[in-house]
Amino acid sequence: MLLTDTGVPERYIDTDEWGGDVMARLDDGWCIALDRDTMRCTIYENRPWVCRIFEEGSPECLEEREQLATIYR
Ligand code: SF4
Repeated sequence: MLLTDTGVPERYIDTDEWGGDVMARLDDGWCIALDRDTMRCTIYENRPWVCRIFEEGSPECLEEREQLATIYR
């Protein structure tokens, strides 16, 4: 979810069912700004605030990883 204006390009912004601005996703659910070859953010300098505070290795991060591991097993 885009809570502040960090300069995310308009073409990467979608609207959720409640009318909020969110990062657009591809059909498989991955963020549209992710370079799938390098697994790096293509808009790193302008990434959303929530992406900036999401701590690598945090409980939330590990939970997301576990869910992804389940999906791609
Ligand atoms: S940090 Fe990840 S989730 Fe956030 S905009 Fe970049 S690719 Fe998307």
